[in-house]
Amino acid sequence: MNFIEEIIESGDTSNLMFRFPPEPNGHLHLGHAKAICLNFDLAHKYKTGCNLRFDDTNPLAESTVFADSIMEDVAWLGYRPTEVEETSNYFKFIQRCASQLIIQGDAYMDDSTSEEIAELKGDLENPGSDSPYRNRTIAENLEEFRKLCEGSIKTVLRAKIDMADPNLLMRDPVIYRSIDAPHHNTGTDFKAYPMYDFAHPISDWKEDITHSLCTLEFEAHRPFYNWTLDKLFDTSVFGPNPRQIEFSRLNVQGFTLSKRYLKELVEEGVVDGWDDPRMPTLKGLKRRGFTPDAIRNFCEKVGISKRESQIERSLLDGCLRDDLNKISERRMVVKDPIKLTIVGDFKPGFAALENNPESSIISARKVNYSEQFWIEREDFRVSANKKYKRLKLGDNVRLKGVCIVKAVDYTEIDGIITEVFCEHYPDSFSGMKTDVKAKGTIHWVNRDEAVEIKLNHFDGLDKGTISAFGEPLLRLEYEKPVQFVRHGYYMKDGDSWNHSVSLKSSYNG
Ligand code: ATP
Ligand code: MG
Repeated sequence: MNFIEEIIESGDTSNLMFRFPPEPNGHLHLGHAKAICLNFDLAHKYKTGCNLRFDDTNPLAESTVFADSIMEDVAWLGYRPTEVEETSNYFKFIQRCASQLIIQGDAYMDDSTSEEIAELKGDLENPGSDSPYRNRTIAENLEEFRKLCEGSIKTVLRAKIDMADPNLLMRDPVIYRSIDAPHHNTGTDFKAYPMYDFAHPISDWKEDITHSLCTLEFEAHRPFYNWTLDKLFDTSVFGPNPRQIEFSRLNVQGFTLSKRYLKELVEEGVVDGWDDPRMPTLKGLKRRGFTPDAIRNFCEKVGISKRESQIERSLLDGCLRDDLNKISERRMVVKDPIKLTIVGDFKPGFAALENNPESSIISARKVNYSEQFWIEREDFRVSANKKYKRLKLGDNVRLKGVCIVKAVDYTEIDGIITEVFCEHYPDSFSGMKTDVKAKGTIHWVNRDEAVEIKLNHFDGLDKGTISAFGEPLLRLEYEKPVQFVRHGYYMKDGDSWNHSVSLKSSYNG
């Protein structure tokens, strides 16, 4: 049980409700996946609901394009929200809440500029000072707030708390400000919008959220979250208020999980969009070959804590590898090719190769061969010690799914081997009993039918592309990554293949 579950189970568990509250101002990244898994998995565990709520309080940054993408990503991860809500659905209600604060004497309209407000804020050592507008009458505040909402003035509404509070966020925070821009949901209906910190507790309350989970940077915001709810909602009438609980952000070695940073990469053209396979966005990871199962499993392994930490990239890769090992079909690809040609009497045929030895569904494919193969350069040596298990001049090796061959000759141009010539053992074809021994098995591609493919490899934001030869089946479309035998997992992406993750152990053929 993690610490959040302990908190939940220490209280009334009869009407639990959760939410995932993204701002539709960008695409989701791996960090968001942690918050999604946390909230939806809790809902699942306690047999209750979890809403997807768009925290859309800033029309300058938000759009339906982002909102739609977020819905897609949540569904892709395998979760179905109980309701899809929008903070903008509550704008009228939130406005009434603000008026109520004014009537209670808990909020005031401030005509100061943002610089003036900042100047009077004080700092960690020094208390702030009251604004000259702090003691306006309720009637005047209501009238000014009405004007703010109708768009005729551009001042702000502030909560009236305590300019000497040690928590700077409690020094009369701004709760409403004018924004002169159309909103993607409410159009031009509103000219003033609630601040996130004010809208959030109210939205949670509206949706009967019991546990409002957020990342640690919101810890200092919690007193204002509670202040807002305490001022507005009488718990003896409405029951307990939502409770904010903070957990640590997900940080993964080699990734910068910040929407703002990722947005910069897109806007400055460093990457080719939010779904660039180098991006740690869910869309980018998907193009890279990450599966929802791998990501969910990773989030579960990372767990929930209150302490910031850096998760090793190998944990993420391990989760992906485990999943792909189970679901990926195997194909043969030669990256650094030399020719292998069988001399003498040799008939073309086909190898029947298992698609995935790890899968419970047995399936195989036919791969044609002739006497002309591509093999990996590193799989042939003129001389080698006993440990070398591949093809050595004068020695045997099994061509996967075909037969055992013996290297008898080779050609070299300027010291670089280009072709090896082999004889074959006619009684050594797959399925035959033979006394011929081969130390290892190597993979190959038929030179007559090879398709040339491009492989993209990534290192942070660097991308390198190499070409390789593969089986003809690689012309097909693939929705899941494929294991290129001995090379790793690759995800087809347009006319090239993105490296997803390497194989754990090197080939022991
Ligand atoms: P960023 O900080 O990357 O710009 P954000 O916090 O602004 O992201 P929101 O749309 O506000 O993005 O986030 C929605 C939810 O996802 C919030 O509850 C937030 O705490 C959570 N979240 C964002 N980043 C992470 C992360 N790295 N790890 C865990 N949860 C995160
Ligand atoms: Mg945020």
